[in-house]
Amino acid sequence: MYASETAWREVDAYFVETLVDEDKALIAARESGQRTTMPQAEVAPNQGKLLALLCQMAGARRVLEFGTLAGYSTVWLARAVGGGGFVTTLELEEHNAGIARTNLREAGVAERVEVLVGPAGESAQRLIEEGAEPYDFVFIDADKPSNPAYLKASLELTRPGSVIVIDNVVRNGAVTDPASEDERVQGVRAVLADIAADARLDATSLQTVGSKGWDGFTIVRRAR
Ligand code: SAM
Repeated sequence: MYASETAWREVDAYFVETLVDEDKALIAARESGQRTTMPQAEVAPNQGKLLALLCQMAGARRVLEFGTLAGYSTVWLARAVGGGGFVTTLELEEHNAGIARTNLREAGVAERVEVLVGPAGESAQRLIEEGAEPYDFVFIDADKPSNPAYLKASLELTRPGSVIVIDNVVRNGAVTDPASEDERVQGVRAVLADIAADARLDATSLQTVGSKGWDGFTIVRRAR
């Protein structure tokens, strides 16, 4: 039996109301997503909290994010790493980065977040060339066709034990279609194949339903 999308939303609302402590700054960051180039593309509140919990469980102090948007997930991550932590977040659009910077200031975490504007592949390459300290946790949530490139860059920028989370890997079930003409689906399939072929990586994927529809995450642990 399939529950309806309405039921998924109701369950998400119940979980968020019961367990997810969104303050004014997080609500403002989420709502400001409407003014970005990709309205409603931020993670759901219970997913933001999942990222924060994963980060804390991994003991992460340094986080790298591909795809900032209005900084909603960034605020969750920046709060999770605490005062001694640092987040580097990569965003293509200056317009979105400006909104994110305001939200990060309002959330009290601006001094521990660096928003790098430009194509994420180029920003990540610069971090590699500059010899950036390894990141403990990576959240890949930008343009999906570039997922394989973002994984490759992440492997240059992490250490054994680091965790990498990739968002939107289900795409309403389209991920199972090898002949899909959707480049985003092919980006997910390619990155999953790369993960499977890399002996350093251990991973699983989970489907999710809820206020963001039917989608899912891949969670990767870099073993060596
Ligand atoms: N992580 C955000 C959150 O949950 O609040 C949502 C990110 S949204 C799904 C994807 C973001 O990636 C958008 O802000 C988009 O502008 C950005 N983006 C798209 N292509 C990009 C690229 N080539 N380099 C960097 N960012 C890119």
